[in-house]
Amino acid sequence: MHRNYSRGYKFMKEAILVSACLFSIPCRYDGNRASNCLSEEIQSFLKQNFVLVPVCPEQSGGLSTPRKCMEIQGGDGFGVLEKKAFVKSQDGENFTSRLILGAEIVYNIALITKATMMLGQRKSPSCSCSQIYEGSFQGKLIQGYGVTTAFLSNHGIKVLDTENMDTLFYGKEWQCPGN
Ligand code: SF4
Repeated sequence: MHRNYSRGYKFMKEAILVSACLFSIPCRYDGNRASNCLSEEIQSFLKQNFVLVPVCPEQSGGLSTPRKCMEIQGGDGFGVLEKKAFVKSQDGENFTSRLILGAEIVYNIALITKATMMLGQRKSPSCSCSQIYEGSFQGKLIQGYGVTTAFLSNHGIKVLDTENMDTLFYGKEWQCPGN
């Protein structure tokens, strides 16, 4: 007897990694909730269209919450992976290996869940793919990726962050209202 399995596949959703702090999970370095969490409307849209996989690369890398504020010095996440840049706290403690470990673990989560995309938190040394702080702890921003978004991008996973997430909604008959 011929079985039509394609009907079932029609309802399978793509998995997407999302920075956990965007869901109001208090995993930020200071233990607070992010001020730009995803609105109810956007969360509802994402739930309808994707399997959501919250990740926090810095916690995955073994760092506690709260933890020291970190910035990338000498480049961005791609530079860190090329060993040309480093992730440090203002007092000089080096967290580079922790953030690389977190990126590797998040990549493994992507493989397990078959996620092909990540929606990250802007300005984060781990999760941004628009702007990051430039390393002087003076509040100055530069264009650049975080360590996890650079790692995922190097492995063919599409990365977006809250600065450029509108492309997530193209073709979904829904327009992002902003956040
Ligand atoms: S590492 Fe990413 S998910 Fe974790 S608190 Fe920072 S921005 Fe949010």
